[in-house]
Amino acid sequence: MQGLMMHQPLLIAGILRHAAKWHGSTEIVSRQPEGGLHRSTYAEAYDRARQLANAFARLGVREGDRIGTLAWNTHRHFELYYGISGSGAVCHTINPRLFVEQLVYIINHAQDRLLFFDVTFLPLVEKLAPLCPRVESWVLMTGPEHLPATSELPNLRDYESLLAAETADYEWPTFDENTASSLCYTSGTTDQPKGVLYSHRSTLLHSYAAGLPDAFNCGAQDVISPVVPMFHVNAWGIPYLAPMVGAKLVLPGPGLDAISLCELFENESVTFSAGVPTIWFGLLQYMRETQRRFGTLRKMIIGGAACPPALLYAFANELHVEIRHAWGMSETSPLGTVATLKANQATLSAEAQFEALASQGRGLFGIDMKIVGEDGQELPHDGEAFGDLLVRGPWVAADYFGSLTPGQLTTNGWFRTGDVATIDAAGFMRITDRSKDVIKSGGEWISSIELENQAMAHPAVAEAAVIGVPHPKWSERPLLVVVRRPGYEGITAEELLSFYDGKVATWWKPDAVEFVDQLPHTATGKLLKTQLRKDFANYALA
Ligand code: AMP
Repeated sequence: MQGLMMHQPLLIAGILRHAAKWHGSTEIVSRQPEGGLHRSTYAEAYDRARQLANAFARLGVREGDRIGTLAWNTHRHFELYYGISGSGAVCHTINPRLFVEQLVYIINHAQDRLLFFDVTFLPLVEKLAPLCPRVESWVLMTGPEHLPATSELPNLRDYESLLAAETADYEWPTFDENTASSLCYTSGTTDQPKGVLYSHRSTLLHSYAAGLPDAFNCGAQDVISPVVPMFHVNAWGIPYLAPMVGAKLVLPGPGLDAISLCELFENESVTFSAGVPTIWFGLLQYMRETQRRFGTLRKMIIGGAACPPALLYAFANELHVEIRHAWGMSETSPLGTVATLKANQATLSAEAQFEALASQGRGLFGIDMKIVGEDGQELPHDGEAFGDLLVRGPWVAADYFGSLTPGQLTTNGWFRTGDVATIDAAGFMRITDRSKDVIKSGGEWISSIELENQAMAHPAVAEAAVIGVPHPKWSERPLLVVVRRPGYEGITAEELLSFYDGKVATWWKPDAVEFVDQLPHTATGKLLKTQLRKDFANYALA
């Protein structure tokens, strides 16, 4: 017997329709790449998304066609999210920090028909265009006054003129909620990038879950500023969540340095933000140096890479901002787990509570997870056993876009994350490593993340990475690679190594320390350990 409820597919256009109708005057503030701050509202964005949809119809865009974006977090990028997906096409957000060869591969693999880009990326796009012949038209995301006088770009036009030619009279099509809505390629460090193709249904379910109290906990009183880029897993779903709950949206554009962020947060009364640890380290340092405190910011999500407990501690105790540590991946839309306490943990010691909050957290309803050993058998939830982390759920990828080996991404319905983790009795998951980064010493595993977290708590350490280097007896031993904080140039390897005493098992202690000026990062700001391993491939331990 079927239930007798209305059948309304979960479609992305419905989110902005809701925001325009019930939060129409709520603001979207955006720092523009061409300079200045832009103010609009959900009602205006809704009209402009419909103008875009009319433009796509005029340009012959059909359901399922891919439309690419190379853009910062701005109001125009927000409008594109809705105009593209709402009309049935696929919004393909591209990470402009990738190498040209990767960008060319991605654009050609996705077969993008139109490509929207910010003024910042004009020089980049001029290199890409001759290598991406399928792109029929390149659209500069600005007004006609910023169009270059001459350009070789095929059918170059500007965003504002494209919109100006259309009315906002548009009926969003209704289609199956499993229709593809957006596409994001994971920045493979060794293999070619792979496309994760989200659906309207997965996106809406993910947004509902992200808004829950133990996740992002956002509502109509919030002022949300996603610092995580809209080209990195849909800015963790915030461009959908904010209009869904009617929160004011503050988009930082290209201004991701600490001074610009702090100014924007204060001027726009931002209450909630989200981003990777590197960004928050920069902001923390700036707040310390200038002895400033946030007026309204109350909560931040840190994810995308392990959040060192020292960072969590500093934000909570010095800046009085609650940090929530979250784990996820492009393949999980991205939200999988968030660290918040349960009621029965209220009586735990402050240290025990902090330990739980420093973990990657508990699975949200919608994400099921387990850890398995090398034999594929499930491991106990004792906080000790660690193994490969497997997940499944309605916003977890079942396959990659255009995969040459379809059906191989999952095993018995579970997606292998490539992360190694423990799960404790209360359900808190801790990532100990990427499976490729775990250090195998004498047949036992050492967590590089744990060693990095400990090092980051030392005042002399600006950034730390731990990799395994070859060892004749143990096969691999940990090497700590450190960027020193200014003023700490005199710190010695011995001093740093003694900092581990009593904090980790003695056999976990790195064998050596190397000081470098900077560490290599991926295009999404994570440590690029493949590069480090190459750099130190012939490292001779004393
Ligand atoms: P991406 O798909 O580029 O977002 O990368 C996902 C990967 O980032 C995960 O598989 C983890 O290895 C890593 N990651 C994301 N969040 C965290 C976290 N909170 N702690 C540790 N690693 C994380």
